[in-house]
Amino acid sequence: MGSMRLKVFNAVVAAVALAGSSFAVAADLAIPDSVRQQFAAMASHAQVKKALDFIRQDDAKTLAEQKELVVIPAPPFKEAVRAAEYARRLRALGFKDARIDKEGNVIAVRRGSGSGPKLVLSAHLDTVFPGGTDLTIHERDGKLFAPGIGDDTRGLAELLSIARALDAAAIKTAGDIWFVGTVGEEGLGDLRGAKALFRDNKDLDGFISVDGGTPERVTFLAVGSHRYRVTFKGPGGHSFSAFGRASATHAMGRAIAKIGDVRTPAQPKTTFTVGTVAGGTSVNAIAGDAVMEVDMRSVENGPLRQVDADIMKAIRDGVAEENARWGSKDAVTVDVKLVGDRPAGVQSPNSPIVYAAVLGVSAVGFKPVLDQAASTDSNAPISLGIPAVTIGRGGVNENNHAITESFDPKNAYLGVQKNLLTVLGLVGIAGVSEPMLQKRAR
Ligand SMILES: [Zn+2]
Repeated sequence: MGSMRLKVFNAVVAAVALAGSSFAVAADLAIPDSVRQQFAAMASHAQVKKALDFIRQDDAKTLAEQKELVVIPAPPFKEAVRAAEYARRLRALGFKDARIDKEGNVIAVRRGSGSGPKLVLSAHLDTVFPGGTDLTIHERDGKLFAPGIGDDTRGLAELLSIARALDAAAIKTAGDIWFVGTVGEEGLGDLRGAKALFRDNKDLDGFISVDGGTPERVTFLAVGSHRYRVTFKGPGGHSFSAFGRASATHAMGRAIAKIGDVRTPAQPKTTFTVGTVAGGTSVNAIAGDAVMEVDMRSVENGPLRQVDADIMKAIRDGVAEENARWGSKDAVTVDVKLVGDRPAGVQSPNSPIVYAAVLGVSAVGFKPVLDQAASTDSNAPISLGIPAVTIGRGGVNENNHAITESFDPKNAYLGVQKNLLTVLGLVGIAGVSEPMLQKRAR
């Protein structure tokens, strides 16, 4: 057992303890010696070294592109301007066929020798910030401050540097690399870009999302979520003269009390919350309307469906009780709208894509951390049984999703280097190394 395996082992045990994950097998991550040797041989090949050197020299250019891209607004559902610019930059790198698909994803394919798997290397175009947000970059103490500076503009810039490095070192991969800028990763975007990519391209074999705040992170478990906006409507009326009518807020209160009593398993971790409530018009009125937002999550789809069913029953029963209490004709009604649906999924950490991600992290000197389950673009492929990981960007990104978001670019090229190594490990180099990623049966 090499020291590297020990390190990874400890990181995994820590990550699993943190996540409270049912996925105990994660603690069994043990990268076979043959895989480690194959990866090390690939990483020390002269052409690969040339590409790694290029990435280091390309550090300033990568940071410059990150700064140029971050000032282009990309609010949810309004990524088109940034997408057009990203496609333009890919075309300028020689991807003549770079295109924007029906959903809005930017896609540029770098073909391999024809024998290998098809791997997506992606970052997301969208940010959480609404139109009109001040995107001016401020620099202080060596850090850059701007909304979206790390998440995921850094990922977009890293993809461009990787494409340049492959060309600079004249690397012919065995498999195809799909460079993709996705839309709709954040919030109510609901992974629409990643979902569309796999709906429209059935022949993809693996997926990488470059979308983690620090380089050592590897996410391979997908938290699924359902989100609802639940609106209660009633007749309303004066609190004194109309007394006896059913109330929208009282119905919602009954529903929330029942939701609060819902039981979910600790393993696999399954959660819920009534995140927001609002309603009513006046203190001396029977509320005619009330609205709440509910979020539920699980790392497995079965328990997610169960908590969903339990909460829907709680809502129906709460409304029925309120109407029965007053026996009024003007009953409270409820409208339930699904506003978020992200599929869950598990995959074994003992899989080539996790190995390649972990070995890439180690190769540049970081200690790999297998992250707790998360909700990222990788949810879409993982839920379909397609190998996928979300891996960290270079540099250190803090306060993402806040307007105070910052990025420390110190040694950020190391993140790009390890991402290149992970990609090359998976797709293989023609005449040099076999792809770690398997082609799926089709
Ligand atoms: Zn992100």
